[in-house]
Amino acid sequence: MTLRDSRATIDQALAWAVDTLRDISETPRLDAEILLAHALGWSRVRVLAGVRETIPADALQTFRALVLRRAAHEPVAYLIGRKEFYGLEFVVDRRVLVPRPETETLIDAAIEWARLHFAPHDTLLIADIGTGSGCIAIALAVHLPNALIYATDLSPDALAVARQNIERHGVTDRVTLLCGDLLTPLPQPVDLLVSNPPYTILDEIDAGVRLHEPHLALDGGSDGLAVYRRLLAGAPQALRPGGALMLEIGATQAEAVTALARQAFPAAVVRVRCDLAGRDRVVEVLHVAS
Ligand code: GLN
Repeated sequence: MTLRDSRATIDQALAWAVDTLRDISETPRLDAEILLAHALGWSRVRVLAGVRETIPADALQTFRALVLRRAAHEPVAYLIGRKEFYGLEFVVDRRVLVPRPETETLIDAAIEWARLHFAPHDTLLIADIGTGSGCIAIALAVHLPNALIYATDLSPDALAVARQNIERHGVTDRVTLLCGDLLTPLPQPVDLLVSNPPYTILDEIDAGVRLHEPHLALDGGSDGLAVYRRLLAGAPQALRPGGALMLEIGATQAEAVTALARQAFPAAVVRVRCDLAGRDRVVEVLHVAS
């Protein structure tokens, strides 16, 4: 199927895009609608209400280019420059991992723990290790108005994106960005450590992810566990007594990460929480001893 150069209706353009994206995307129609809305500068609802309208030539050209980039596996979020996470919109580009819905499970776990252990006016110190776009730190700052949050990242490029998001969500006074490896930039121990560290085995992941997203945010070494080992080794010194640690994990890593957590925190309670798809997603380490 081809698309004529200068004239197409919304219907025709969407049909062409769905056809072009069928083999590379699990959601070709949704991708096409989002990209066309972006090219037109319209909402998706407006696009769907106007399926018989002719697309202006410049928007059609933009749309065609976006669809071809998507066909080369580029994430939709990078193509439109934003991604929704935990009901908030984040600026994203290839300097940061695209926020994933399964990471919302980590936010749920952290918010539950914070509300259980801290009264609304108590100050709570949190650190988000490897913050990337800042989505975890910012979602926590928005939902826990009493929290002060350190957000670390090794990548100055990622921190530039996080800075934009912190400003956008008005939490610059409570989220402090720190550049450095894992826990090393933290100026003091905290009550709650959260992290979505790199945990994949690069050879095993989806080609689109591997081609376009930052390997620094994905590469967990030859067994996927390298960063958990380093993070858990340092975590006891980075937590206040009674504190907690919450780590996102890959769906097959619960047993291995739980064992590493028990080694680092022999007296703590360690448990696993599932995401909405029922897959193991977060290891929680609770009641950390002094
Ligand atoms: N969930 C991501 C993926 O499967 C990986 C994120 C990470 O390594 N922290 O692509």
